[in-house]
Amino acid sequence: SEVRALVESKLATIPDFPEPGVVFRDLTPVFADGPAFHALAEALTTPFAGRFDVLAGVEARGFLLAGAASALCGAGVLPVRKAGKLPRAVIREEYALEYGTAALEVHEGELPPGSRVLIVDDVLATGGTVDAAARLVERAGWRVAGISVAIELEALDGRARLGDRYEIRSLLQF
Ligand code: 5GP
Repeated sequence: SEVRALVESKLATIPDFPEPGVVFRDLTPVFADGPAFHALAEALTTPFAGRFDVLAGVEARGFLLAGAASALCGAGVLPVRKAGKLPRAVIREEYALEYGTAALEVHEGELPPGSRVLIVDDVLATGGTVDAAARLVERAGWRVAGISVAIELEALDGRARLGDRYEIRSLLQF
């Protein structure tokens, strides 16, 4: 599609970052381009129109995408934060990264029970990050409306890890 071509034309690909053998997909030139960022933000939510109440953005690049998309579609944003940043009582999930480990947190009771949450991130790699975000949403008493990412790295099998529990959409696949 036109949107895919526009976003892909701005995407940067960096071999051997952050370590040898990793091919890093860098969206910062997409963020820096008004029309490309607008088109990407719109494309993330369009397939899920009418089926979510809130966008969950995973720190940090997911914040940019969820924030931009929320301004276009009128939904609120749930910041899914790295451990230790949120000031009130949290729910926490540990997860394995493509490189290293970490934990994600949300505030308990941030959304009304049963809220439909669309999880947004820049890249789906092994799926560990969005899997942790989905577990947080469910433990908090909300529902996962789906998972929407800009880029899916198919060789890392995130889709298989997440199974058929959630609808997963990606704009670009590599
Ligand atoms: P996963 O948990 O699916 O293995 O990794 C996804 C997370 O790692 C995402 O939050 C994403 O920001 C980051 N990540 C992994 N690979 C890449 C990459 O090639 N480019 C970018 N921008 N982020 C990546």
